[in-house]
Amino acid sequence: TKESVKGFLRRNLFVLLTIAAVALGVMLGFALRPHNLTLREIKYFAFPGELLMRMLQMLVLPLIVSSLVTGISSLDSKASGKMGMWAVVYYMVTTLIAVFIGIVIVIVIKPGKGHRDSPVVSGSTIEPVQAADAFLDLIRNMFPPNLVEACFKQYKTVYKKTIYTKNVTVTLNLTDSLNATEAATVVETIPVSGSSNGVNALGLVVFSMCFGLVIGSMKQQGQALRDFFDCLNEAIMRLVAIIIWYAPVGILFLIAGKIVEMKNLAEVGGQLGMYTVSVIVGLLIHGLFVLPLLYFLVTRKNPYTFIAGLLQALITALGTSSSSATLPITFRCLEENNRVDKRVTRFILPVGATINMDGTALYEAVAAIFIAQVNDMELNFGQILTISITATAASIGAAGIPQAGLVTMVIVLTSVGLPTEDITLIIAVDWFLDRLRTTTNVLGDSLGAGIVEHLSRQELQSQDVEVGNSVIEE
Ligand code: ASP
Repeated sequence: TKESVKGFLRRNLFVLLTIAAVALGVMLGFALRPHNLTLREIKYFAFPGELLMRMLQMLVLPLIVSSLVTGISSLDSKASGKMGMWAVVYYMVTTLIAVFIGIVIVIVIKPGKGHRDSPVVSGSTIEPVQAADAFLDLIRNMFPPNLVEACFKQYKTVYKKTIYTKNVTVTLNLTDSLNATEAATVVETIPVSGSSNGVNALGLVVFSMCFGLVIGSMKQQGQALRDFFDCLNEAIMRLVAIIIWYAPVGILFLIAGKIVEMKNLAEVGGQLGMYTVSVIVGLLIHGLFVLPLLYFLVTRKNPYTFIAGLLQALITALGTSSSSATLPITFRCLEENNRVDKRVTRFILPVGATINMDGTALYEAVAAIFIAQVNDMELNFGQILTISITATAASIGAAGIPQAGLVTMVIVLTSVGLPTEDITLIIAVDWFLDRLRTTTNVLGDSLGAGIVEHLSRQELQSQDVEVGNSVIEE
């Protein structure tokens, strides 16, 4: 019909525009490189891209909360229970497979063998974190003491050494082991904020899920709140539909800006080059073969048709390096192009974007073992197991923002006694790998939504019937 032809053209128009934007961005970027722009000039040039980032991030907070609350409150407990269970199983299984692929590849390719290259970037200091503290912080952040604060702050445990001199008290963040005789030590859990980085998405996800469950069970009494969040969700999605028109422009400048800014890639040779190749190979195997195979085995549908519908979200992930900034576009692609049930996307996507990061987990495992290889450290089976577990935890703990994985790396390294300063070895290529792993993360979340929809179709259908009945009764 005319409508569906129009819809088809429109969908493809966006995909074509987005692809054209990427191509143009790459060309423009390379064309400008020889001009040696200053950092300031690059920042001005990439401004339209920065605006896209800001617009998407602006929507994330209300989107996460409203979609989770409506998603869960619109499901009966049987359906949400089953969906939640399948989602958790899918997240765990795929993350562990990703870690496994990463470990096998880094052990086979051995990018870190041979003489140690001198660090490409040096001088940055990284605060030591204890794996146990980081783990407790993860759980702590699930229960934010203040909901408003959760929108811009997370909590973090620090150890401080206080040295008393005559009249002055000096407080230092501890970077080495404690000397009990010289100082008093204070353990503090402090709120840390950052621009967009401070959002405690995990805390908001947990709260919204519980809240949705409760108002879902409140029958008539909960109707006003259900309507409110439903309407909020719909309104945000309409804003997304507007912003999507601007997305190709933003992506063009995000990509062009990054290409102008990046260091000469030819310089990235040797160990770092092989490390980059290892991560890329792992991500490709996981994203292009393993996840699609899993999707096919469960649903018996063509995974690549499904992935084609996601193209715009994947390119946005590549452009923004942030699965949470991409979330609005992921919603659109899944609901509009792939026709995934809204009750599933609303429930599954915000959770997935916050905790399910296959690409990040794979990268953390590769990076940790690479650093061990560079240091000539033989890892035994127990240590490799520890890396698998902490890499999984670190990927759950990483926020869906640019280079969050680099920060949570510290947990993996300290858990097996690797030097955290060596993160500086991999910083030079991280901006690039970050984009690729973010794309894998978004792909994993999206295929997961398709799989969970398939596995919960009975519950969804039986709920449709019930809702149909109640409408008739009314
Ligand atoms: N940037 C990634 C994401 O948003 C997280 C990471 O740094 O690995 O999914």
